Amino acid sequence: MVCDAATTVAAIRAVAATVAEHRVELTHLDRDIGDGDHGENLSRGFTAVITKLAAGSPETPTAVLKLVATTLISTVGGASGPLFGTAFLRASTSVGAAETLDGTAVAAALTAARDGVVARGKAESGDKTMVDALTPAVNAANAAADGGRGVPEVLSAAADAAADGAVATTPMQARKGRASYLGERSIGHVDPGAQSTAYLLRALAGAAAG
Ligand code: ADP
Ligand code: MG
Repeated sequence: MVCDAATTVAAIRAVAATVAEHRVELTHLDRDIGDGDHGENLSRGFTAVITKLAAGSPETPTAVLKLVATTLISTVGGASGPLFGTAFLRASTSVGAAETLDGTAVAAALTAARDGVVARGKAESGDKTMVDALTPAVNAANAAADGGRGVPEVLSAAADAAADGAVATTPMQARKGRASYLGERSIGHVDPGAQSTAYLLRALAGAAAG
């Protein structure tokens, strides 16, 4: 399969549907160790993205990703809005002028997205944030791409690793974001941003698998 602007739009629509499906669950996770708005924040953002795409779809993958980035930055709010916005912005820059993306380009875009989140939020692995889903996803994606895999396999490897990474946040004590205010009481809960990141990558993988 080739990943062009139309498939990128289809993948973003799949992400929006997944966010809507898991809105309440993500909000409940954030109620446990945050302020109970993560699902609402993402849902507001991706609803706005869908509205913008309905008004006219961009014609290159980079433009699709940039539309998502600017929309999330202006609508999501909270800590996660600028972080997801930065992720999509860096991914947009990474794919550059390419009309179609292969497994290597997708792995590079994921890597750039993760690096952007780390640059912006300063979280390290083990701090119980979305980075704990993103970094295993990036490692798995790069391993798959280095092995010559195409976009569906690269994204499905990333999604599997992110899901494991989200589960692995449970015993961690949060050291970044609102959850860090809870100290030891943040232990024993899945990080909402790690979980939403895993869902997002699963949706991308599902779309790429067709
Ligand atoms: P807020 O915490 O402002 O209410 P959200 O509830 O939308 O924002 O998002 C919370 C999620 O954001 C957390 O679960 C965590 O994964 C992520 N997060 C918070 N701060 C950081 C950070 N500095 N770096 C990476 N991720 C972070
Ligand atoms: Mg919150």
